[in-house]
Amino acid sequence: MRVAGPVGFDLDLTLINSRPAIMAAWSAVAEELEVSIDLDEVDRRMGIKLEDEVAYWFPAPAQSAAAASYRRHYVQLAPTLTFLLPGAAEALASVRHAGERAVVITAKHPVSVEPSLAAVGLQPDEVFSHVHGPEKAAVLARLSAAVYVGDTPADMVAGLGGGATAVGVPTGSFGPAELTNAGASVILGSLAEFPEWYARFRSGPAHRVGWADRCPEGRTP
Ligand SMILES: [Mg+2]
Repeated sequence: MRVAGPVGFDLDLTLINSRPAIMAAWSAVAEELEVSIDLDEVDRRMGIKLEDEVAYWFPAPAQSAAAASYRRHYVQLAPTLTFLLPGAAEALASVRHAGERAVVITAKHPVSVEPSLAAVGLQPDEVFSHVHGPEKAAVLARLSAAVYVGDTPADMVAGLGGGATAVGVPTGSFGPAELTNAGASVILGSLAEFPEWYARFRSGPAHRVGWADRCPEGRTP
């Protein structure tokens, strides 16, 4: 298990609460293209690529235009409807303080990533965008990342697949049990708990066992 190395963070619902902007953008797409879209269903799949979500609502010939419509609305909505999740800035800072790089690895398209980060003033050391599932694992492996933090079961699978310790935060559409079942090594209540956990993770196995005792839903990394 790697302790040194970059730490990857998912973006949506891990570092930022982008749900209001995402839902507003889908509502705008539904109105503009006169298609009925169930926002609860969209919410349950949060974290996948836009192109994959679009495929649930539009036939193939219309999908490219629908994705373009979504992104056009999203970049206008993101500046006022994107919010920092508790502890996100401190989590990135704690990684840098340890001398490591804090990187964002997200399914979001670069066009949508930029206004989202700008809205909350987050400045990761590097951003890898438009990757999901095994693509995230490939990025993590290439970086020799020590940790991947995310809010979805797919993020946990990607973290493990990329050789990183998978850390789950239940700040999205999935609870601790779902993240643990997907392979999360650790579950934090939110990123507000990240700096303390990361300091222990960096300091050695004895301390990590101590953390597991306090985190019964997680497993010892
Ligand atoms: Mg996410």
